[in-house]
Amino acid sequence: MARDLLSAPTVPHRCVKHCLLCSDSDIHCVAVADTIIRIDCAACGAVLQLEYAPPDEPGLTARIELLVEPFSQRSACPERRH
Ligand SMILES: [Zn+2]
Repeated sequence: MARDLLSAPTVPHRCVKHCLLCSDSDIHCVAVADTIIRIDCAACGAVLQLEYAPPDEPGLTARIELLVEPFSQRSACPERRH
């Protein structure tokens, strides 16, 4: 039924419309990998990483990591490329 969704995970980054922390819509979403998107919020300065179906946690649908805390120094944000 929904099996094709599991075999070919895609990142629905367009479904992220608001910052998960401050709810502002002034965000920038970038797909950094097949299942990983990075959400850059211009309003609060937070950078979040959203990983769908992380391989190290099979039971998890998605994992959210806070890469840069809101209102912290932007220099803490590394420009990583995978
Ligand atoms: Zn925000």
